[in-house]
Amino acid sequence: MSNDKLPTRSENYSEWYNQLVLKAELADYAPVRGCMVMRPYGWALWENIQQGLDRRFKATGHVNAAFPLFIPLSFLEKEKDHVEGFSPELALVTIGGGEKLEEPLVVRPTSETIIGYMYSKWIKSYRDLPVLINQWGNVVRWEMRNRLFLRTLEFYWQEGHTAHATAQEAEEETLRMLGVYADFAINDAAVPVVPGVKTDSEKFAGAVRSTTIEAMMGDTRALQAGTSHFLGQNFAKAFDIQFLDRNNELQHVWTTSWGFSTRFIGAIIMTHGDDKGLILPPKLAPTQAVVVPIYKNDEEKSQVLAAVEQVKQELAPGFRIHVDAREEVTPGFKFNDWEMRGVPLRIEIGPKDVANGTVALARRDLPGKAGKSFISRDNLTAQVSAALDTIQTAMFQKALDFRLANTYEPKDYEDFKEIVQKGWAFTWHCGNGACEARIKEDTKATPRCIPIDQPGGEGACVVCGERSSTRVYYAKAY
Ligand SMILES: [Zn+2]
Repeated sequence: MSNDKLPTRSENYSEWYNQLVLKAELADYAPVRGCMVMRPYGWALWENIQQGLDRRFKATGHVNAAFPLFIPLSFLEKEKDHVEGFSPELALVTIGGGEKLEEPLVVRPTSETIIGYMYSKWIKSYRDLPVLINQWGNVVRWEMRNRLFLRTLEFYWQEGHTAHATAQEAEEETLRMLGVYADFAINDAAVPVVPGVKTDSEKFAGAVRSTTIEAMMGDTRALQAGTSHFLGQNFAKAFDIQFLDRNNELQHVWTTSWGFSTRFIGAIIMTHGDDKGLILPPKLAPTQAVVVPIYKNDEEKSQVLAAVEQVKQELAPGFRIHVDAREEVTPGFKFNDWEMRGVPLRIEIGPKDVANGTVALARRDLPGKAGKSFISRDNLTAQVSAALDTIQTAMFQKALDFRLANTYEPKDYEDFKEIVQKGWAFTWHCGNGACEARIKEDTKATPRCIPIDQPGGEGACVVCGERSSTRVYYAKAY
């Protein structure tokens, strides 16, 4: 617990982020390099993210199950692109119970292979399809460069794995789940994401086509916030997942996979945070409103605390409320502390408020006088509800305005090179991997996605000049 100031974002964005994660007590470094400990406040945020997603998964017909942490190495080797993509990041177990294992076990980096193996046993007929299973769990990818939430050796996520009778159904599922991610990001997290398709060089190892939601962080860099993959019949053929169709003919199924991870907490921090700390969207904030009593003497204290108790009783059934009754710190200290932790709304109650039947509301997203209002205690529930809705909407709009203000359409390649140093470039792209490679080498920017929502028209590829009807977002990315 401390009121130490953070570095400002303009001084050192990356240090601002690192210190904020620690000071807000979202996560801490583990004794194993690259691993992360999620502290109760960070885990509570993740639980709210899980609930928002899980509700949407169930509403689209999915069920949850759990598959093993260990996968035989030979399983990964069955899909050539998959093993090639993941082998540099694998953690292997070679000894178990004191004895050398006959076959090394991989600590799962993702579960397409072991789930594919099980699907080959479970799916026999078209009547068994579709299979729509999701798993909540953790995975390990041996990353050498680490940042809390953004890139850790072990992380938490969900992975959906579905199997379908036709390519069309699997493609529809891929886009349906991309839509679920976008809906969650926009409506619950107030993060204005762009849904789109990955270029071939950026797609998931083993996928036919990868789709993604991309978000702009507060330093204008992009963050891939969730992905949904059409896997074609690649895993069905590798694991012999076959079914008898309506004509009694044996066919391979078509599969998808889609994942959303604790990385998204990094997206929330960097989309909304300011120099004072976190700003959490009301729908996901572990605490939506904190009540701070203000008094100078014992007489005021007993009056104020009685009013605080009434307010708590009134609001607790409908909102996630915390009363900060600490006596060893000042109200000013408490204000800073809850601002650091990003609680969307602060409710102050002092002796004058008790006398007038009022409370003071302070919005976290709008500092100073602009975000402060004094309201009557009549209809308190409705007024707090309205204030939280206003905050949720304003946070989304602010983030969207920021993205639009920092997205540019380059005139030529020289202009492009300058743009990707300060924001996103939205540009014509021929689809040739060589143009992507040149851009990456010249600028370190990568194609973030081919947005599904294309404005139409035609133009020249920013690198080679070839005519194209497709526009792509390019940016430096986390
Ligand atoms: Zn080109």
